[in-house]
Amino acid sequence: MTLALYNTLSRSVEPFAPLAPPRVTLYTCGPTVWNYAHIGNFRTFLFEDLLRRYLGASGYDVVHIMNLTDVDDRTIKAAAAAGKRLDEHTAPFVQAFFEDRDYLRILPAQVYPRATQSVPAMVRLVAQLLERGVAYKGEDGSIYFAIAQFPNYGRLSRLDTRELKAGARVASDEYAKDDPRDFALWKKAEPADEQVGAAWDAPFGRGRPGWHLECSAMSLEQIGACCHTQTLDIHAGGVDLIFPHHEDEIAQSEAATGRPFARYWLHGEFLNVRGTKMSKRFGNFLTARDLREQGVDAAAVRLLFWQTHYRKALDFTDEALAGAGAGVQRVGEFYERLTRDGGRGTGDASGRLAELAARFETDFRAALDDDLNAPRACAALFQLVHDGHAALDVGAGGAAAARVSVERAMAVLDILPTTKTVDPALVRWVEERLAARDKARKGKDFKAADQIRAELAGRGVEIEDTPAGTKWRRV
Ligand SMILES: [Zn+2]
Repeated sequence: MTLALYNTLSRSVEPFAPLAPPRVTLYTCGPTVWNYAHIGNFRTFLFEDLLRRYLGASGYDVVHIMNLTDVDDRTIKAAAAAGKRLDEHTAPFVQAFFEDRDYLRILPAQVYPRATQSVPAMVRLVAQLLERGVAYKGEDGSIYFAIAQFPNYGRLSRLDTRELKAGARVASDEYAKDDPRDFALWKKAEPADEQVGAAWDAPFGRGRPGWHLECSAMSLEQIGACCHTQTLDIHAGGVDLIFPHHEDEIAQSEAATGRPFARYWLHGEFLNVRGTKMSKRFGNFLTARDLREQGVDAAAVRLLFWQTHYRKALDFTDEALAGAGAGVQRVGEFYERLTRDGGRGTGDASGRLAELAARFETDFRAALDDDLNAPRACAALFQLVHDGHAALDVGAGGAAAARVSVERAMAVLDILPTTKTVDPALVRWVEERLAARDKARKGKDFKAADQIRAELAGRGVEIEDTPAGTKWRRV
C-alpha cells in the first residue's frame, strides 16, 4: 500500500504522488502572532506534524514552510491597544509560539517567513495581478481582486456564486468594490496603521497587505527560491481556512502564475470544548503554556490528539487527557522493558517479540497510509504493548527487534513520556544493583538484599520478584 490522503479539492482520498519525488513541498498556514496560540490552533499544527513526520518516514524529503502572520487586522489592533509598535507587540508572541512548538515536540519547519519581512514579494504579486487585469484600485484607494475575472473561484470551498454573493453582502457595506465578493489584496494605509508601523510604500499606493495575499506571496517566494516551482505539493491548515482564506490564496496565486497553486489540500478539524469550537472569542480556550504550567506531559497531549482522526472533531476534556497520560505511561514502561531485555540479549532475534513487531509495523503503516489514520496506528501500538508484555513474561526472544519497531513508530508519533524517559546510565546502575541483590539472596544474605531494595526505592525504582525474574519500574 502507498500513502493516500484526503484532498479537499476533490473531496476524496487520493493516492499521494509529489511532483518531483522524493521532494515534497509543504506549506502550512502559521499562527497570527497577536496573542498566544491556543491548543485548538495547536491541534492543527500537530496534525501537520504527524503529516510531515509520516512523509519523512515514508522516504520523502519534506520542505516544510510555515508563515508567521505578524501583520493583519488583529495584530494591528492588539498593538495599538497595547500602545506598542507592531514588531514590539508581536516579538514575544513569536518567541512564545516557538517555545510552545518545542514543548509539544512539533518538528521545526525549515523556514518561517514573516509577513512583515516579505512585503517586497507581496508588492510584486499585487503588481502582477494589476497588470493581468484581475485586480483593480477601488474608490477607497485599496487594491481588490476581481473575482469575476477568475472563473475557477469557489472550486475548493464549493460554495456557489449565489451563496458567495449573499455572504459578502451581509458581511460588507462597502461600496468601494466593483463586486461585493471581491476581496482586498492591499489595504490603503490608515492613520491607525501608520501609528503602529504597519504601512509600506508601493507603486500602487502606501498601504499594507491583506492576510490572504501574505500566504500566496510567501509560499510562492519560498518554493521558488528552494525548489524552482510555482506549485506546492501540499497546502494544509484548519478547516476554518477553506473559505475564504484558501480560496483566495488559490485565486491570487493561480491568476498570477497560470499554474495550479497546490495539488493536495489538507484540512484538520476543530478542537471542541464541551461541544463548542475552542476560540478566544468564546473565551473557552486553553493555551499550550497553560498545559505546560499544569505539568501536563506533551506526550499525553500528542496521544490524545492522535486518538481521534484529524478530520473528526475532538472534544477536549480533563478525563480524556488523563486517559492519554496513562496511555503514554504504558508505552513508556513497555519501551523500558524492551530496552532492558533487549540490552541483556535474551533469546534469539527471531523470537515471538520480533514476530509481534513485524505484524505491528505492517498494521501501523497500513493505518497511516490510509489518510493518516492515527487512531488505528495507536490501537496497533497498544496491541503490541499488550501482547509484548505477555511475551516478555515468558522470556520470549526478539526484544531488540521490537524495540527498533517501537522507535520507528516514535519517530512519527513521538509519545514516550517526558518525565520517565529511559536514562541508559540509570538502567545500567539498576541492572548492576539487581545482580548484586540476586547474589545476596542466593547467599541467604537477606539483610543485604533488603538494603539494595531500599537503595533502589530511594532512586524511585520499584521492584517485583516474579517467576520470570525480577521486574523493575520507575515510580
Ligand atoms: Zn494562509
